[in-house]
Amino acid sequence: MDFYCMTLFPEMIESCMHESITGRAMEKGLLNLTTLNIRDFTLDKHRKVDDYPYGGGAGMLMQAEPVVRCYEHIKEQLGERKHRVIYLTPWGKRFDQREAEMLSKEDALVFLCGHYEGIDERALDLVATDFYSIGDYVLTGGELPAMVMMDTISRLVPGVLNNDDSAIYESFSGNLLEHPQYTRPEEFRGMKVPEVLLSGHHANVEKWKHEQSIERTKKFRPDLL
Ligand code: SAM
Repeated sequence: MDFYCMTLFPEMIESCMHESITGRAMEKGLLNLTTLNIRDFTLDKHRKVDDYPYGGGAGMLMQAEPVVRCYEHIKEQLGERKHRVIYLTPWGKRFDQREAEMLSKEDALVFLCGHYEGIDERALDLVATDFYSIGDYVLTGGELPAMVMMDTISRLVPGVLNNDDSAIYESFSGNLLEHPQYTRPEEFRGMKVPEVLLSGHHANVEKWKHEQSIERTKKFRPDLL
């Protein structure tokens, strides 16, 4: 999977994505990340990328020119390769595990991170194919949402997790949340690991996990049932 990220803060994304599981996946060549600083594509001699919105309104808007030129640079690199260009925005479609599964089948994904009050609509008309929100709240920029999406999608790329089953049997992969889990020691501060998990009886263990998943979903996310 090739990720491209158009942002005003490439270091933010680079430092986070090169850590831990995604970092190792990049070392193994399972993921590639190219970050581009939108500011490098401005034609303004002061490297300005924002301006006041027409018609008034609070804050500044990112201008169309550097965004479109930045995308054209990526497009040149991608050539004929199929790709989606995702604009992160609070008014986009809600990102969830199903969307992550669908996007993980793509060959290349380009993320466009907004800042200030967003981006001139003409740039979006020219470059964006998809619009995603990570939740009903407003962040200062699209960098965190892009990282949330890349991290979630990465876990679904074959080989990224040491055990691909991890992504199959976890919260949201069906309509249930994950059951409680325990590791050594068997007893911690007087609290024991449920007997059934030590029994070695596979069918009973699976039954227990399923029941616990239902209980947890009822308690925390009844809307999923
Ligand atoms: N004025 C915009 C609005 O009301 O929709 C909000 C702009 S926000 C301060 C700046 C940037 O952060 C957006 O362009 C977008 O890229 C990103 N952003 C903020 N909240 C987000 C969310 N919930 N999901 C995805 N992106 C978000």
